[in-house]
Amino acid sequence: MAKEYSVDRQVFDEVMVPCYAPMQMIPVKGQGARVWDQDGREYIDFAGGIAVSCLGHCHPVMVDALKAQAEKIWHLSNVMTNEPALRLAKLLTEHSFAEKVFFANSGAEANEAALKLARRYAADKYGPEKSEIISFKQGFHGRTFFTVTVGGQEAYSDGFGPKPGAVTHLAYNDLASLAEHMSERTCAIMMEPLQGEGGIVSPTPEFVQGVRELCNKHNALLIFDEVQTGNGRTGDFYAYQGLGVTPDILSTAKSLGGGFPIGAMLTTTELAAHLKVGTHGSTYGGNPLACAVAEAVVSEVTKPEVLAGVRQREQWFREALATINAKYPVFAEIRGKGLLLGAALNEEWQGRARDILVAAGEEGLMVLVAGANVVRFTPSLVIDKADIDEGMARLERAIAKIYS
Ligand SMILES: *Cc1c(COP(=O)(O)O)cnc(C)c1O
Repeated sequence: MAKEYSVDRQVFDEVMVPCYAPMQMIPVKGQGARVWDQDGREYIDFAGGIAVSCLGHCHPVMVDALKAQAEKIWHLSNVMTNEPALRLAKLLTEHSFAEKVFFANSGAEANEAALKLARRYAADKYGPEKSEIISFKQGFHGRTFFTVTVGGQEAYSDGFGPKPGAVTHLAYNDLASLAEHMSERTCAIMMEPLQGEGGIVSPTPEFVQGVRELCNKHNALLIFDEVQTGNGRTGDFYAYQGLGVTPDILSTAKSLGGGFPIGAMLTTTELAAHLKVGTHGSTYGGNPLACAVAEAVVSEVTKPEVLAGVRQREQWFREALATINAKYPVFAEIRGKGLLLGAALNEEWQGRARDILVAAGEEGLMVLVAGANVVRFTPSLVIDKADIDEGMARLERAIAKIYS
């Protein structure tokens, strides 16, 4: 038998690549919106594994789907298709504009497929000159070299040698600069329909509508990166459905698997035809276990009562945060939509989002930040009212402690 190591946080520093700085505690068990660490300490989870655990931890529909599939077949590769992948693709097309689906294992991979499809389509249809990808400052699209280059933070893409070319970054919500810049060379615009990592920034209605019109005018494709906003997070199944603007390509991941790794690129039949046999692929993409879990997740999240519940929970979050802010004024505004919310710090509290995250952790509450000035909340979409109340009580205690 293999030796079993007893492990603690120090082992991370010994044997893991130091590109992360994880918290001290190590969670070992989760149920719903609660998590327990190695010492048995309990936490309320307002982070949801960064907008992933959309049904909370170990939801029975996910556990059942995983167990059932685990006893049937785990892996085939794309030399064959499989039933869970086909059923999931059907579901995704039923609940979106899309007619065709490509499965990957992560958000970055779904975006990589989206960008490659856009480039291939433009090259096939208009020629090699039409290659420019426009994206937005503070945007985030993943960590593969193409997607991180398209992302709007150079700090993430610098230092790795020559970058993929023909990528332009413009200011989000600045329609005039986009209109001025776009040309017949523009192949696609990639954007988040609500910037997540960049600080929870919603697009103005004029901006998203304007982007769509400019794409139409210049024969450019519109790619919505819905990796964070998708799968019910904003109260619509996809955020585009609440904006009244339909993209040509959409990427989804994070909540899609509810905690099991999977990503997908959605598009139309016309565009999909340009990824002919052999042009793109993934060994694990469309894996039966991942697709079985995602099928259960999507079936649950698309229920009208679950989506309506997200909007109800948004109200509870906003009210509780306003109550805390009335006692301890630290927030300037609450931004975002559904359960993708950001509490932006006021003038006096600039730069202290991480202090609040650490203080919350000490009180038994997991939250996130989005930059130095925004405390971010991306909890389970089905979190109970009682867990929200308890979490907010812990957040209030945390803020009270550092408020002076
Ligand atoms: C998290 C995220 C990604 C990257 O997803 P991974 O699964 O980490 O590759 C891409 N785009 C957006 C908007 C995200 O929030």
